[in-house]
Amino acid sequence: MKPAAFAYLAPSSVEEAVARLAEHGPEARVLAGGQSLVRLMNTRLSTPSVIIDINRIPELGTISVTDGVITVGAIVRQRSCEIDPRIAAGVPLFSEAGGHVAHVSVRQRGTVVGSVAFADPSAELPAALLALDGQVVVRSSSGERLVDADDFFVGPFRTSLADDELAVAVRIPGTRPERTGSAFVEVSRRHGDLPMCGVGSVLTLTPDGAVETARIALCAVDRRPVRARDAEASLLGAVPGTDRIAEAAALAAAAVEPIGDCHGSASFRRHLAGVLTRRSLQTAVTRAGQENPDAR
Ligand SMILES: Cc1cc2nc3c(=O)[nH]c(=O)nc-3n(C[C@H](O)[C@H](O)[C@H](O)COP(=O)(O)OP(=O)(O)OC[C@H]3O[C@@H](n4cnc5c(N)ncnc54)[C@H](O)[C@@H]3O)c2cc1C
Repeated sequence: MKPAAFAYLAPSSVEEAVARLAEHGPEARVLAGGQSLVRLMNTRLSTPSVIIDINRIPELGTISVTDGVITVGAIVRQRSCEIDPRIAAGVPLFSEAGGHVAHVSVRQRGTVVGSVAFADPSAELPAALLALDGQVVVRSSSGERLVDADDFFVGPFRTSLADDELAVAVRIPGTRPERTGSAFVEVSRRHGDLPMCGVGSVLTLTPDGAVETARIALCAVDRRPVRARDAEASLLGAVPGTDRIAEAAALAAAAVEPIGDCHGSASFRRHLAGVLTRRSLQTAVTRAGQENPDAR
């Protein structure tokens, strides 16, 4: 099928883009990598009358690092992020999660910010952003605001972006490399498919090997990417041995509200949430430079 007729606008600045968004409101859609939007338009699940192509706005095409915070502009491709050495060093979880998204050909076109703005509850990068306490930089003709990832994702394919707002970047605070480990793991039916469940964890240990900070986020097991707050709290101050990790994994599985579909029932997805939280935490502990004490 072909898309319904639409007007095509290609602004050359953010100011112009947000002015066009203010003018056309809900009739307009932003075009970033087009990997999700064009498919929806071709099948007429989405019929915007105006397309605002942001790919000719150079200021949206950069990755920068300031005071340890990594900023990824709205037309930076997923593949560019995945292979950027500053991201691999500063927030390895983000690179690892990115490697699970679709196939390289999709990642060469798809953008990080587009994935975040699309807010597919199964998508890996929104969950990674959540696990890393990231933020979305949002611009409209009335100014700029920063939205915490936890406030940005409000439901399936729904965000807190208003119709006249453009997500111009994501900001990700670097994780402290010393005694910090992270891991993103997932299960999907085929390589490159959206996961049936994905889990990203970031742990920082004290010199004595106890958990100082813990962040765990899951995708594909709820209406939006979610943090496993009870599981995180259960780890704090404890040495993350087998039993403690199993307890945290059980808490994460109990907290999610999966929806079953043709790829996996709700109970199977809940089961995966527990198994993958355990695996993600075990790998994060190992990467934090400490052997699992129970494994000695
Ligand atoms: C075959 C295939 C397999 C895939 N598998 C996976 C997978 O395993 N995991 C996964 O996470 N994703 C997967 N995807 C989706 C892919 O990651 C998309 O690239 C991504 O979801 C959207 O990014 P995009 O830049 O292509 O956005 P687009 O398709 O251009 O836009 C998507 C939506 O976000 C809006 N939008 C985009 N950018 C902005 C912005 N800056 N401000 C405001 N709104 C904006 C658009 O208006 C549109 O509604 C797959 C896609 C394909 C085609």
